[in-house]
Amino acid sequence: MPQPLNRRTALHGLAAGAAVIAFDPLARTWVTAAGHPAPATGRTTTGGPFADVPPLDGTLVTDPAALAADADDFGHSVHRTPAAILRPGSVADVVTMIRFCNDQGIQVAARGQGHATNGQAQVDGGLIVETATLNAIGPVRAQQGAGTGTVTVQAGAVWSAVVHATLAQGLTPPVFTDYLELSVGGTLSVGGLGGQTHLYGAQVDNVTQLQVVTGAGELLTCSATRRPDLFRAVLAGLGQCAVIVSATLRLVTAPVTVRHFLLPYTDLATFLDDQRLLAEDDRFAYVEGEVVPDAAGAFTGYVLEAVAYGPPAGPEPDDTALLAGLRYDTSGAVTAETLDYFDFLNRLAAGVAALEQAGLWSWAHPWLNLLLPGDSAATLARTLLDGIAGQDTGPGGVVLIYPLVSDRLRTPLLRMPADPVPYLLAVLWTMDPADQAAVQARAAANAAAYETVRVAGGTQYPVGTIAMSPADWRAQYGRSWPEFAAAKQRYDPNRLLAPGQHVFTP
Ligand SMILES: Cc1cc2nc3c(=O)[nH]c(=O)nc-3n(C[C@H](O)[C@H](O)[C@H](O)COP(=O)(O)OP(=O)(O)OC[C@H]3O[C@@H](n4cnc5c(N)ncnc54)[C@H](O)[C@@H]3O)c2cc1C
Repeated sequence: MPQPLNRRTALHGLAAGAAVIAFDPLARTWVTAAGHPAPATGRTTTGGPFADVPPLDGTLVTDPAALAADADDFGHSVHRTPAAILRPGSVADVVTMIRFCNDQGIQVAARGQGHATNGQAQVDGGLIVETATLNAIGPVRAQQGAGTGTVTVQAGAVWSAVVHATLAQGLTPPVFTDYLELSVGGTLSVGGLGGQTHLYGAQVDNVTQLQVVTGAGELLTCSATRRPDLFRAVLAGLGQCAVIVSATLRLVTAPVTVRHFLLPYTDLATFLDDQRLLAEDDRFAYVEGEVVPDAAGAFTGYVLEAVAYGPPAGPEPDDTALLAGLRYDTSGAVTAETLDYFDFLNRLAAGVAALEQAGLWSWAHPWLNLLLPGDSAATLARTLLDGIAGQDTGPGGVVLIYPLVSDRLRTPLLRMPADPVPYLLAVLWTMDPADQAAVQARAAANAAAYETVRVAGGTQYPVGTIAMSPADWRAQYGRSWPEFAAAKQRYDPNRLLAPGQHVFTP
């Protein structure tokens, strides 16, 4: 008789036939109640070669539809099928299953929203930990009179839900990605860059404490002063050393409305210089920019996007003072408008809904995200933009470029070029997934672009589609590599975690 492995799972109403009850270490497969071999086969779940899965608060599933969904991501070009998926009902479930996977030599990948583009959250034949069920937020702790605070959130919460909760107290996380439906654990594993980064650093720079389950299955709390080596290895650590289960985030005063500007430029160097000016003088809370093609497809138009926060986060915006000294094309399409703060943060939502409705959100996204040294940003950007001239970035596809400020980026594993003001250049391709040859060609072109930038002292922002060899990763991490490798050895000694990143060989 099968053992009642999912005693608690059964209470949650999972159909007994679908429940995973054991792992067969010889066949390296999971065994469901329905498919459990009879004792006549010589295998039993008690004392036999099957390893019983311990009791769980959540569920462990192996149904083909769920596995197929987790064998895909926002890139829609890499597909590695896991053998099982944990939908944790508690943090204890993550501990339990990572320990179990250690015993059985099963690889594990956390999956937030699956919005990486190159299989980073996938694991062939292993266990996916879907963090979406661990999504508790709060309470928000406001520091009376200071206009600041903190909130502790579980890793599966998405940023739109986090900011909804904090805005109720007049507070906000200081930095946002352009799109809010990404998980906290997913962006803290890569860095979390946005238009506010020049002022506040990345999202990882605004975390005061983490609770994680290490690759060895230990539930640990870490911060800058408590197990600082683990804290440093997890923030922007690509899920290599631990699964983040919760994070305590720093909060600042939220504006009610913001003043939003779009300023056109016709010259790349002038555009980048003005972006740098704004990044360094802090007059805007948010600075980004887009490169747009002309009628012939040459990427020769530039739009600086800058946002000033209104009261109580900042003074009443004064357009004349905010735009002073900027050399944008005053004869072009200048936009200045006042927006509700959350609507500004959530500005991609309407476009995403339209793409979803048109069936285009599920197209392939072989994205390229590079970090350019500021002193050669204009030359490098020109070379890269000329290299894609005449090519359509696809429906919803855009080219972004914006400055960061190194002094405010303090997380060692978020690898920046050695330059006071590096630039993020992102080419966000959208391509028909039916033409995989074109998608693969784009991935190869991305690798060549990365090489051009690496040779010039740049790095990549590892959320897109660039095949990286172990040697590339060493180059990427540079002087941080020995500490990263030591943390991997200490906290994930069996090298189970996040193999889809290909940072460490299994
Ligand atoms: C439309 C869109 C817009 C974006 N805009 C921005 C932007 O403006 N700025 C920016 O910085 N990025 C941006 N990104 C990239 C995004 O931040 C990363 O891809 C991020 O990792 C996605 O989060 P996710 O929850 O989908 O993570 P997943 O894709 O699920 O996972 C990504 C990686 O993190 C690991 N991981 C996930 N959760 C955890 C956890 N709890 N603990 C440990 N490891 C974990 C996974 O194993 C995997 O290796 C954007 C992506 C999309 C699709």
